[in-house]
Amino acid sequence: MEKKGLIYMDHAATTPARSEVIEAMLPYFAGKFGNPSSVYRIGRESREDVEAVREQTARALGAEPEEICFTAGGTESDNWAIKGVAYANRHQGKHIITSAIEHHAVLHTCEYLEQHGFEVTYLPVDRYGSIDPGAVSDAITDKTILISVMFANNEIGTIEPVAGIGRIARDHGIPFHTDAVQAVGNLPIDVDEMKIDLLSLSAHKFYGPKGVGALYIREGVKIDGFIHGGGQEGGRRAGTENLPGIIGLGKAVELAAGAIKERSAHLREKRSRLTDGILGSIPHTSLNGHPELRLPGNVSVTFRDVSGESVLRMLDEHGVCVSTGSACTSGSLRPSHVLLATGLTPEEAHGTVRFTLGRTNTLGDIEYVLDVLPGIIDDLRQTPHHHGDACYLYRKSGGRTSSEPL
Ligand SMILES: *Cc1c(COP(=O)(O)O)cnc(C)c1O
Repeated sequence: MEKKGLIYMDHAATTPARSEVIEAMLPYFAGKFGNPSSVYRIGRESREDVEAVREQTARALGAEPEEICFTAGGTESDNWAIKGVAYANRHQGKHIITSAIEHHAVLHTCEYLEQHGFEVTYLPVDRYGSIDPGAVSDAITDKTILISVMFANNEIGTIEPVAGIGRIARDHGIPFHTDAVQAVGNLPIDVDEMKIDLLSLSAHKFYGPKGVGALYIREGVKIDGFIHGGGQEGGRRAGTENLPGIIGLGKAVELAAGAIKERSAHLREKRSRLTDGILGSIPHTSLNGHPELRLPGNVSVTFRDVSGESVLRMLDEHGVCVSTGSACTSGSLRPSHVLLATGLTPEEAHGTVRFTLGRTNTLGDIEYVLDVLPGIIDDLRQTPHHHGDACYLYRKSGGRTSSEPL
């Protein structure tokens, strides 16, 4: 098959900003540059435009505008939700419940809190990566001050029973945070229906700009401010607003909110073709994550007896961008905590590749991958693989954990 241009299949890591988003942002770098806190006309106009995005974002989640705070992305939103609620409620108790498969923005924040006197329960998952709401119930003590469980997993795509967990949290009067960074734009979300009290989102995961996101904070939730300084974001997240970023977030939310069902159906169709094609043509291969309750674009596959890093590298030579299930840190392979939690062995985790499809992937892209992949896997299985090999990217990038699933 003819070599194509870039085939991007790593939409869980980031997405390209849509042209409508860039167009909406451009005037705000120079022409409409007024500080939203300034009182003259161009300042007031910036304020109005920021508040319009706040309303738009709130509407997309079934929230009120006052409950939306803009942040610098998903990582900051997760940090704020968890540390903010932990410190504001520490006199009631110091116990937090989360899961073993959260994004590092949640896990490392919880580990930090453990070093500061908090106690964290990391709930296990089944082989599909699903969390049992009953296990959440069982983990609750009279010291529990926060439950944080992700909406959908970024590595294996599994959608968690958020509404069920939300109901349990509400019944116990415990605030419930969900990292919905992978869900926004892919799945319908209603914070009231699902009894969500705090929700993290990030614009660059749904065709908006990088470095901007939001934290939904339900009215009445006790939470500390996160960045101290001026009065922005109700004094809880100080600093002059990222005006172009927020405008871009607004446009991305607007484009993402419409026709979620139709877009997801299209993505699922492509996902099925890629999944069936890989599993049907390459032996000793299995799909990770839940077979049905999964993100519409996620295809996480384990190839036995190959290193995912090698597959990534070979696909890269064909212009195809994917991720792996392991991260090279300090020169040694650290298998993904998510894959290990689902019961994969470290070897299986190392043989895992994540394809995440997005709006611009065509069936032609998928056919191309299905055309080249069997040969790649076959070649790699013929050559004995070295563990050092798998850390090629790590060394080449000077120690960056370039292949870490984002
Ligand atoms: C990408 C991602 C994050 C981090 O978001 P950033 O905006 O890149 O900081 C957090 N959680 C999940 C599930 C993600 O996929």
